[in-house]
Order: sequence, then structure tokens, then C-alpha cells
Amino acid sequence: MEGSSAAMDKQDEVNITPGNVDILFKDVMSEDWKLSSEEFLRFPLDPEVENDVRRNVPKSIFSVVNPTQLEGQTSLAGVSVRALNLIDLHPSVASSTRFRDFASGGWVHPGSTPLAHRYGGHQFGWWAEQLGDGRAHLLGHYVNRNGSWWELQLKGSGKTPYSRSGDGRAVIRSSVREFLAAEAMHALGFRTSRSASIVVGEELALRDQFYNGNLKMEKLAVVLRLAPTWFRFGSLEILARRKEIVELQLLLDHIIEKHFKSIAITDPDRYVNLFSKIVEETAEMIAQWQSVGFTHGVMNTDNMSVASVTIDYGPFGFLDAYDPDFIPNSSDDEGMYSYRNQPKVGYNNLQRLADALRPLLSPSQMQQIKHVLAGFHIHFQNAYLQLFARKLGFQNSKIEDETLVQNLLDIMEDTKADLTMTFWEFGNLSVEEIESKKVPKNFWSLPKILKHNKFDSFLSQYKLRLHEDNSNEETRQSIMASANPRYVLRNWIAQQVIEKVEQGNYSELDQVLNILNSPFSTQPIAEKKGFASPPPKWSKTLRVSCSS
Ligand code: AMP
Ligand code: MG
Repeated sequence: MEGSSAAMDKQDEVNITPGNVDILFKDVMSEDWKLSSEEFLRFPLDPEVENDVRRNVPKSIFSVVNPTQLEGQTSLAGVSVRALNLIDLHPSVASSTRFRDFASGGWVHPGSTPLAHRYGGHQFGWWAEQLGDGRAHLLGHYVNRNGSWWELQLKGSGKTPYSRSGDGRAVIRSSVREFLAAEAMHALGFRTSRSASIVVGEELALRDQFYNGNLKMEKLAVVLRLAPTWFRFGSLEILARRKEIVELQLLLDHIIEKHFKSIAITDPDRYVNLFSKIVEETAEMIAQWQSVGFTHGVMNTDNMSVASVTIDYGPFGFLDAYDPDFIPNSSDDEGMYSYRNQPKVGYNNLQRLADALRPLLSPSQMQQIKHVLAGFHIHFQNAYLQLFARKLGFQNSKIEDETLVQNLLDIMEDTKADLTMTFWEFGNLSVEEIESKKVPKNFWSLPKILKHNKFDSFLSQYKLRLHEDNSNEETRQSIMASANPRYVLRNWIAQQVIEKVEQGNYSELDQVLNILNSPFSTQPIAEKKGFASPPPKWSKTLRVSCSS
């Protein structure tokens, strides 16, 4: 979608310099800071008002429901200045009590009618019926100074009609992970929702972190998050499944009008065109994930954004050693959502989205949809090869690169080389140095692959390919430096932050956010923390689950 690319977000950010930072609002109370729910209130709304019981909600897109403030004292544990910037807010809002209340559900902005969205979804391959925002509140939409549309949502902000058996809350552990991951993905240049702030409270909730009967009281948090839209594949699936065709068409037309401006709302083929865009952009998003070893962990259709941005960060993980069978979610016994499976799952999820469009398509449009879906693999491959071409320092990508990339990944798999650091180290030596196998002492991942019996043949192919690229060493290294991060949000890094935040110490959160905001630049503080060193032994036993 047009308004959602990382490039667009960056545009929004660069307009601000220390010199003109004063054009930003210092508080959410300011009269001209215009948050509104108007566009959402046009949709069919749930007429019931009983909000803290599980119920089936027919023929509605939203239920009106206020957030429930966290009990006890609340503290703003972190803000992302970059994300605040997207909604025209000055970094100093962080010191305002009103902002903290706003960002944790304690104060509702006058322009906002908080809403919980009704959606369904396929979870682990099965239709899960009605799901919905069980612990999230859509506060409204904000159109920023550049005309970009952002939707503000709280997560962990209390019960809604969609809470099922849940308590409507989110623990610190999952909130910190989501807060950091979204901003880290953005800094990598990838399609993602954003995190503006995280507030922690004194209230506790019972969680069985590994579903093994080991119950624990955990502290809670609320994240204020932003996305171009929070509608998901599951938003459309529930309407199609329940044969609520009027509502389905209303929602689809809204999505097109607001978020896909290149598609004419009067075009009889608009749903085919919409599908085509979503196929292309979802392929791009998943290729981005693969390129850094990001594994989402819960690729249910309710976690797939129609804006093709990464949403609902839960038991995700970044690969350390390259292992295509990596499964970050300890509840995913069969590895359905392993790193390797992500493109295939993306395709299957798009098939579910196509099923949801079917009631509005003619037989010939259904045929077109099939063709469009069949193109997923090509879009994925193109995006994937473009990303990997840059990771290898080429100016352009070629279809033949697939074998070269795969050969390198196979070597990395065999030698358990670290995905992030191998590429980084590879890009920080000249080809000549690599060939002579003289590697600086502090390089710890590249030496693993140099010893592999297929490495020399890989390197000869690589040199030929560089020659064809008409490049030189300087260009090669500068492309690689902009494509290969030195720091990613490894589980152990997130874990250390979580432990600090649970103890009420928030400085580590801010430091790690700052480091991940510039993942391509070597930073002394990050080096000291070991973020570019081999993962510590204790990190091998870390597990994450859906419990959050
Ligand atoms: P997730 O796995 O976080 O994407 O959530 C799947 C579904 O369960 C969504 O409908 C969530 O809103 C709901 N859910 C997850 N955790 C809770 C909770 N603690 N309270 C209420 N609903 C929840
Ligand atoms: Mg979800």
C-alpha cells in the first residue's frame, strides 16, 4: 500500500531537525493535535454494551469499548522518538502525565471513541471462528503533517467482547519484545507496524509462560502502537464466512479508498487489483523477513496485515546460527511456522484472503485471482534475490543468483555460521582478504564457512558474478554495509531488557532501542554489551511461547 512503506515513514522522519523540532506538539492535549475515530464510526457497530463477557458479535466491524486503566502507579518505561514523530509529537511529551495516561488507557482523548475490532482467522491451519481485539483498543486515526494516515492502538489495555477467556492484559515480557521489535524492523528498512511507547503498571496477572503448570504472577504493560491500518486478513474472513456481504464490501471499499489510492473505487476489478497489491507486498515483507532471519512465530491469518506490514510480534525470533528449521515458538510443535516455511505459509494465507473475496467476484475475476496468487512465488523470488544481491554487494540482482545464494546458505547451515555476522564480516573484508583467508582475530563467524570444502568453489562463482556486475571493491563494500546489519534483536538481548524493566529499571530499554535504531553502524556501547559477539551460552536455553 502506498502510505506504508519504510521509505515513506523515513520521509516523515527526516523533515524534523533539531532546528525545527518545535513544529511538533508537546502534548496530546493540544487543541490542534487531532485524533479522530470518525472514519471507523461509519462502519456497522456492535449495538451491545456488555463488554467484559465473551460473546458472538454479528454484522459488526467494531464494538465501542473503553480501555481499562492499569491498577496502581504507572510509569512510562520507554518511548520511540521516531514513532512519536510520525504522529507529530515532540519527544518532550514523554514527561507529560497526560501522555502517560493517554498511552495506557487512563485518559481518552476527546476525539477518540475507543473501539475493539471484530475479526476471525485461521490459526495453525484451522478456521478459529471469531477472534477480535481481545486486549487492544483502536484509539483513532491521525493524519500527520505530511498527510500520512496512522492508526493508534493500545495493546494490553483491558477486556473487550473479544477477550474470550483472557484477561485483556499483556505482560512486560511480550510488550517489551513487541515495542523493540517493531522499531528494530523499521530501522532495518522493513515493512512493519511501529511502537510509540510502553507503560508499565503495578498490576499483576497470572501467566503459565510455557503451558506446563508453572504459574507465575507477572507485571503488566500497555504498548501504544501505530500502523497504517490494523485491518487483517481475518477482518475480511469473518465477514465472508458469516455471509455478511454488505459489511464485507463496505470494509473492502474503505481499505481501498484509504490505503490503496492507486486503485479506482469505481473500477469493477478493484478487488482483484487490491488482491494483486497485497500479494506483491506480502511477498516483499516475507522476503525481508527471510533476509535477516526474522521468524514471526505465529503466522495465523489474524496476524497478517492487509497493509502487508509485520504486526502482532509475539514469539518471534531472529536466527543466530543459520538453521532453516528454526522454530521460535515453543508451542509450535510441528514447526508449521518455521523460518523455512514462512514463504509457503504466506502463500497459503493469501489463499485464505482470496477465499474471503470470493463472494464479491465474478467467475472471470475468480480466474484472475488464481493467476495473481500464482504470481506470489515470482514476487517473492524477485524481492528475495534483490535483498540478497545487496547482501552480497551486487548492484543488480539476477535470477541466476538463486544458486549462488543457496550455496552460501548451505555452507552456513553445515558450519552453523551466524546469519547476521557472517554477512557483516563478509562485507567488511575485501575479496582478496577473504581469498587469502586472513581474517581479523575478532571475526568469529566468517572463519567457520572459510573452512568448508565447498567454500572455494562458492568464492570463484562469487568472483565471476562480481566481475559481471561491473563493480569494484569500494562499491561492493558500501552496498554490503548498507544491507547487512551488525545488530539484530536476538532473543537474549530482549531477555536482558525484559529482566531490567521487570525490576523497574528502564535505561537499558532506551539504550537497546537506540542501538537498534542504527543497526548498520558499529557502536561502542553495543560492542561492550556483546551485541555483535557470539550469543552467550545461557541464550541457548531461552524459549518463547504464545503466552503473553
Ligand atoms: P495473539 O496470539 O496475541 O495474536 O492473540 C490471538 C487472539 O487472542 C486475539 O484475538 C487476541 O486478542 C486474543 N488474546 C490473546 N491474549 C489475550 C488476553 N490476555 N486477553 C484477552 N484476549 C487475548
Ligand atoms: Mg494477534
